[in-house]
Amino acid sequence: MLVDAGAELLFHAVVVGAVRADSGRLEALLVETKSGRFAVRATTFIDCSGDGDLAHFAGVPMQSGGSLLFPTLMFRVGHVDDARAGEAWKTIPALMDAAEAAGEFRFPRRGAIVRPQRHGGEWRVNVTQLKNDDGSAVDGTDARSLSAGEVEGRRQVVDYLRFLRSRVPGFENAYLLEIAPQVGIRETRRLVGEHVLSGDEVVGCASFADSIGVNGWPLELHVAGDVEWRWPPIPESRGFNQLPLRMLLPRREGAGGALNLLVAGRCASMTHDGQSAARVTGPCFVMGQAAGTLAALAGAARALRDVPVEALRSALRADGAWLGDGAPPAP
Ligand SMILES: Cc1cc2nc3c(=O)[nH]c(=O)nc-3n(C[C@H](O)[C@H](O)[C@H](O)COP(=O)(O)OP(=O)(O)OC[C@H]3O[C@@H](n4cnc5c(N)ncnc54)[C@H](O)[C@@H]3O)c2cc1C
Repeated sequence: MLVDAGAELLFHAVVVGAVRADSGRLEALLVETKSGRFAVRATTFIDCSGDGDLAHFAGVPMQSGGSLLFPTLMFRVGHVDDARAGEAWKTIPALMDAAEAAGEFRFPRRGAIVRPQRHGGEWRVNVTQLKNDDGSAVDGTDARSLSAGEVEGRRQVVDYLRFLRSRVPGFENAYLLEIAPQVGIRETRRLVGEHVLSGDEVVGCASFADSIGVNGWPLELHVAGDVEWRWPPIPESRGFNQLPLRMLLPRREGAGGALNLLVAGRCASMTHDGQSAARVTGPCFVMGQAAGTLAALAGAARALRDVPVEALRSALRADGAWLGDGAPPAP
């Protein structure tokens, strides 16, 4: 799609810095590539790095630190006897408890998510939990913490595979099919934006006049040793909250002129609790589409904030987005 649209792609390039004009406006980002370091200039910048790298390098206020959600190194196993495994995800928690009680295993967290894949015999496993020596979550913006997490993740993968093979019916001959190419980071830096989406707004199914789409996922808090959930009341509530455009906009007073920047995805403006919900793929798609559409509507001639919110919302609707008002479109 990007190639068809005429976009220039630049793979294997890591953003390492930002250049700002005297006015504070963001002029360029700096990338390290195989051909060396160079600058990329643009009218509008969209930071979808997950970690808010560009906004951070540009000096835009971000929130980070504190108790981050714990990361997970995902993996898949193959050659499972699906018939014998059955609905293993229902029995695995009790099998883990029994294995721990017998002193044979110590698991990094409760709340294992072990599910079959479309391709027979293949299951994915979301169970590792990566912490630093002091018990805090591995920090995806700390190079040393992240490197140690990759090593610890592999140790946990091998240990859990040993548990599956020895304790879970149907997994006796399972083998390690794939370890994710890198540790899955859930939370690092978050923008301090015009609106900060909170956990209460997620659970309370909040509405916003500048809605750009919806989030239908509850709070999913990966805390030390466990996963905690907080749901909107169902069926009493509609079960989703709207996402305001202001989540993507740096605060006027804090950005120091860098108002040609949007921040979308898991690093958008949310509290720790709010981010535990709206960090998942659905709302990240919503934010990315809105950010790209707003940048396109503004073009080179207008400031992002001069684009009427209703013009953005109309463009999103015309492209098939559902903004959370009226009846949802047919699938
Ligand atoms: C273990 C785990 C399991 C999950 N399971 C689910 C699930 O079942 N369902 C669900 O909906 N969500 C799930 N999520 C959440 C969801 O996958 C992510 O939060 C979401 O994909 C984040 O999207 P994003 O676009 O903000 O960031 P990402 O998808 O992480 O995209 C960021 C991109 O920016 C690139 N990048 C980062 N820094 C730089 C830089 N400095 N220079 C250049 N490029 C850079 C990265 O390489 C990456 O390609 C899970 C997350 C984890 C960690």
